[in-house]
Formats: sequence, C-alpha cells, structure tokens
Amino acid sequence: MAARKQWVNVPQHGKYQRKEDLGQLGRTVRFELALAKKLVRQVSYRLVANPANATYTTSEKGRNLRFSPDPSTGTGTTGPDGRLQVFVELPAAGGDEFHLEGKKHNILSKDEVVKSAPVATVRRLFFQSVTMVGVTAPDVTSIVDAFGADPIHVELVEKGKGKTIPAKSVVYAFDDVGPKVKSQYQLKIYDPYAFVIAWVEYIAQEGTATRSHEIPQTLPERKVKDLADTVVSASVHVGEWLWHALDSTDDLAQSWLTSCTCAFIPDVGAEVPLALPKSAVKLDKGPQFTHGGYEDVLIALPMGELAKLQTDAAIPGKLRFALTFRTAVFSGGQSGEHLNLITIASKAMWKDRSDPLRLNDLVHEIGHKLGMVPDGTGAALDAPAGYYTGQGHNGAHCGTGATYTNNAWNGAPTCVMFGTDRSGTRPSTFCSACAPVVRKLDLGAPAGLSTSVSP
Ligand SMILES: [Zn+2]
Ligand SMILES: [Zn+2]
Repeated sequence: MAARKQWVNVPQHGKYQRKEDLGQLGRTVRFELALAKKLVRQVSYRLVANPANATYTTSEKGRNLRFSPDPSTGTGTTGPDGRLQVFVELPAAGGDEFHLEGKKHNILSKDEVVKSAPVATVRRLFFQSVTMVGVTAPDVTSIVDAFGADPIHVELVEKGKGKTIPAKSVVYAFDDVGPKVKSQYQLKIYDPYAFVIAWVEYIAQEGTATRSHEIPQTLPERKVKDLADTVVSASVHVGEWLWHALDSTDDLAQSWLTSCTCAFIPDVGAEVPLALPKSAVKLDKGPQFTHGGYEDVLIALPMGELAKLQTDAAIPGKLRFALTFRTAVFSGGQSGEHLNLITIASKAMWKDRSDPLRLNDLVHEIGHKLGMVPDGTGAALDAPAGYYTGQGHNGAHCGTGATYTNNAWNGAPTCVMFGTDRSGTRPSTFCSACAPVVRKLDLGAPAGLSTSVSP
C-alpha cells in the first residue's frame, strides 16, 4: 500500500492545503487499528518506524520535543466496531514512514496482530520569485525537484508569479530590496513558511581604500621655462576594485575617487601642497571584465604650479600623492537573517553570472532559510562535522573537503553550504554529513524564517 503523505511542518489549517493533497497537515496523525472481531477489546500498540527513517541523537531529542514521536507506545480500547484510533505526533523529519502496530493478547489462542495504514512524512514551504526589471530569473525547476526528492523531502510550492521590483543596478541587499519586495509579497498569509527570491542585478557593499604614492621629482632650475607645459605621470595600483560602472550617476560624479591631494617635498625644507583636481586622476589598465573592473589609476599632474617654486638652482625632492577611493565588494547571493528574503545577483565583478552559478547560490541560501548549518544548541540539531562560523565568511557554514589555515581556505569544498563560491567550484548539493541534517530539520519552526520580508 502506498503510504499516505503527511506534511508534518505546516499547521493544520486549510490555507496550507493544496487541492491535490490526499494527505494531512501537521505532526498529528490519526492511525486506525481494526481488529477482526467487532467487539470491545483492549489493544497494546507501538509506532513502527521504517528502518530507513532519519534518526535523531539522544542529545537532539533532549533539546527538541519535535524530534521524537509522541506517544510511541500505549494501550487503548477498541469501540464496539473493533476499531481503535490513536493520534500520534510524528517527528519533524521528512522522508520517514511509520505505521502503528496493535496487538490483542489472547489467553487460549495466538495473539492477534494488526497494522494501520502507513504514513509518509513530507515538509512544505512556499516561495515567490520577484524579479528586478531588466533581470531574467533562471528556471528553478531543477532546484524545486531536488528539494522535493530524497534526501531532502521539502516540497517547495511556488506562488505569486510575475511580480517585479524597479530596476536599480546595485542593491545593498536587504535594506534596499526588502521594502520594494514587501509591496509585491503575495505569501504573507503563509508566514513563516514562505520566502521570496529576489532576482537582482548587482549586490555590492562599498568600502574605502587609501593609498599614498611617492615618485622622485627634481624641480628644475629657473632657466627651464616650459615647466607649465609638462605633465608628470604616476601610475597607482590600488589593488581593490573601484566603484565604477555600477551606477551612472556615481560615474558622472567620479565617485570612485573620494579625494586626492598632492605635495612637493624637497629633500631640504618644508613640503608644498599642490592642486590636484579629480580630473587629473583617471582609471587605468582596464576594464578587466565584460562590464567594467578597474583597480589601477593614472595620475597626470600639470607642472604649472610647480613652476612658481623654481629657483636659480634645481631642487631635488619628491612628489607625494594621497588618494582615497570608494571600492566595491560583491556578493552573489544573500539571505537576510530572520527575513523571508533571499537575493541573488545576475552580475558580480562586472561579469554575468551563469544560471548554474545563480542556482548554486539559491540552494545555499535556501539552506540558510531552512536553518543550515545547525550549531547543536537550543532546539537545533547537532552540528555536523564540517560546521564552522566566521573564518572569512558570514554565518554558519560547512567546510567539508576544505581546510582553513593561516587565514586562508585550501582544498575543494564538497558541500553547497561552504561559505563562498568565488571560484565557481562549490557543488550545488549538500555533503554526506549535511544532507541527513537537512532531512531532519524542524521546519515547524524554520530557524531562518520569520514573519517579515523587510528589515
Ligand atoms: Zn552562507
Ligand atoms: Zn556540509
């Protein structure tokens, strides 16, 4: 007999039900035992778990009541029709199968053993894709299929298709996206069992870089007359990505250059500040990628001002440039802590991000929404072997396959919950330690979801 499905994480309320559901919602399942004879009888029963079911450790069961069935054994009395109904709360995991086994003790003949119909556990979450105007979302069917299948057993139900948010090339993730998404959010009634995937262009944070650069410069003697026509060039390697080609207004204001100053410093005597207009500093050695990307600048300083300092003798010294830059650090995807919101970028580092890259990020961020990676405290599951926090990444992640030494990661991560995918080599599946954890997560209280899509 095919087991009847039970969506164990969502409350027993019609709004979570779908037309095609044959099963039931919530952890509480009604099992029925039917004895052969239609008589009032006492029956002892026990819940029988399929050997392939997820198993919780003693410490996990000690931390969260939803990791154990209740009751797992008991006795009851049948009605005059020989039937006994038993209500059991099943554990939180998906992909489990249970049935109830009842036994009527006979003194003179063999005990009568009866079994209930089996029940299979599934979890259900709702999601909505919201697309920024100008961005094309990838097809998420493969991700939905993978989450629905073994070993994850989370059914992802898409609703509210076709909503958009206005174009804005760069977003700073949640502060920017959350309020826009909020007005398009169709799944409020499903909170906290729902989330939005916002498909945006760039997710970037801005930073600051300061560079000081010196070049030898001898001020020629006064008889050298053409100094005003001379331009001194200096090439400066910033080594960080400048905030450029991300926002046209910012580019017009040359906002990648916050400030620039220059001084002539004679070997003997006081330094003399020189005017260095922003227009004298230009992007250099690029763009390095399809849509931009500069980490070098070229300074062209007209020597006119220096001519005022000329004397009968040449003055040996140097020029010092002090520059402050606005820089960009990109993110491929983010999930706002305790917000029902995932943002995925279609570009990073001035390059288009392929659909597989975006989907890889999506799996990772959904992982966070489900509560990955648990730390073994509170109501959480035990931390899997590869659990780590920090170490260059934000939040709780899995380092299986990689090692962190001297502030750097080495090796090949084998888990989608590794903290970053800079090189595009992170697998899009959970490692063998994390997959059983995802299956066991308590999605009746999803650790990464709340009742809000906006900060
Ligand atoms: Zn992460
Ligand atoms: Zn893992």
